[in-house]
Amino acid sequence: MENTQELKSFLSLPKDIVITTHRNPDGDAIGSSLGLQHYLANQGHSVKIVSPSEYPDFLAWMPAVNDIMVYDIEPEESQKEIEKADAIFCLDFNSLDRIDKVGEIVDKQKSLKVMIDHHLYPENFADHLISDTTASSTCEMVFDFICNMGHKHLMTQTIGDCLFTGILTDTGSFKYSTSAKLFRIVADLLDLGVDDYMLQDLIFNSMKEKQLRLLGHCLYNRMEILPEYGTGIIHLTKDDYSEYDIQRGDTEGIVNYLLKMKGIRMAAFIMEQPTIVKISLRSKGDFSVQEIAKRHFKGGGHKNASGGASFQGLEATLKKFKELLPRYQAHLVKPY
Ligand code: 5GP
Ligand code: MN
Repeated sequence: MENTQELKSFLSLPKDIVITTHRNPDGDAIGSSLGLQHYLANQGHSVKIVSPSEYPDFLAWMPAVNDIMVYDIEPEESQKEIEKADAIFCLDFNSLDRIDKVGEIVDKQKSLKVMIDHHLYPENFADHLISDTTASSTCEMVFDFICNMGHKHLMTQTIGDCLFTGILTDTGSFKYSTSAKLFRIVADLLDLGVDDYMLQDLIFNSMKEKQLRLLGHCLYNRMEILPEYGTGIIHLTKDDYSEYDIQRGDTEGIVNYLLKMKGIRMAAFIMEQPTIVKISLRSKGDFSVQEIAKRHFKGGGHKNASGGASFQGLEATLKKFKELLPRYQAHLVKPY
């Protein structure tokens, strides 16, 4: 592979490298960035991670997570790091608008750009575009990347802990996007000493009381079921945000509860945030929420997990979403 050879020779001498990932980074964004950082740093490179916004608390245990630079907090320093880098690795996103202002800075750089990502329809902004829409996660792809560099033997438990995290969170604990290949990779990670039980506990059993109460509030007071469209909706208002003191990451996973109901094919979580209304969509089977997110909410993602935003206010967004349903009805109510 020509790409691999070029990258291999580029990385054969120590370089200044920046890794960046998408706004509101999740387990896969942070796991893949840290996994790649540890690998590249072990090769003698100087590596900085720049995230557009802060990472959620449930990832605070991750190795070297405190060294991540957050553009929202340190814009000038972050920009300097990006400007002095010889190479910029873009992980777990495939269009520069996913990283806001960081994207404008990255776009201006002449340095080598490498994208590693598994979302649908990648934009062509990188010199090396490594895209695999069948991959469970960007962490799985970073594992493949290290193997393709001929360095499988240089994988460490620390790298493994990071990669396991993104695989675990993006597959919903091995429920979606799994494959025989993925389970083999996970077996390799366990061989490195990764403690899957401990990591699951760190990642999923670290909720605060207010998060559990928020989940209760969402299911009891904010859930709407539209059986004729096989759809469930949960919304949160600005007042909910202050009443429950909702912070980054606190709403993670709530949308999935809707899919537990028999007959529900699509789940929508609609959040009134300070300047936008954020939308998280999930689906089962062939029904693609990517198409809805892209077409109607300036977003994207995967077939069964996508997101987007609306600038029209909560009420208008809820109305718009419900008005879309009739045109998808035939696909939403059929059994699969
Ligand atoms: P979540 O609903 O968990 O925020 O995101 C689900 C999936 O959709 C993730 O893969 C995420 O990267 C993607 N996604 C979420 N919001 C957006 C968005 O505004 N634009 C695009 N292109 N993708 C999004
Ligand atoms: Mn991902």
